[in-house]
Amino acid sequence: MVKTILQIGRFEASSKICNVCGYKKDDLTLDVREWECPDCKTLHDRDLNASINIKKIALNKLSTAGTAGRACGLTDVCQREEARSCSVLS
Ligand SMILES: [Zn+2]
Repeated sequence: MVKTILQIGRFEASSKICNVCGYKKDDLTLDVREWECPDCKTLHDRDLNASINIKKIALNKLSTAGTAGRACGLTDVCQREEARSCSVLS
């Protein structure tokens, strides 16, 4: 049985990135639970938007990581910031 673990770094600004158009809202603060994307006008629930982004990032990294990469795919970033949180793809 092949088990795949998808994991991305905590430093990803997943709650600040519009999952529709990719706009990054840098001024989003922690107390904001809902926000409207100034670019595509989508109303986001902070946590829902973040979870969609995390899934998209993980799947995207997996598809581009190849068979020998780390499960999270963020090899270059992981080595720099979160090496210990990554799992080798098996
Ligand atoms: Zn947007």
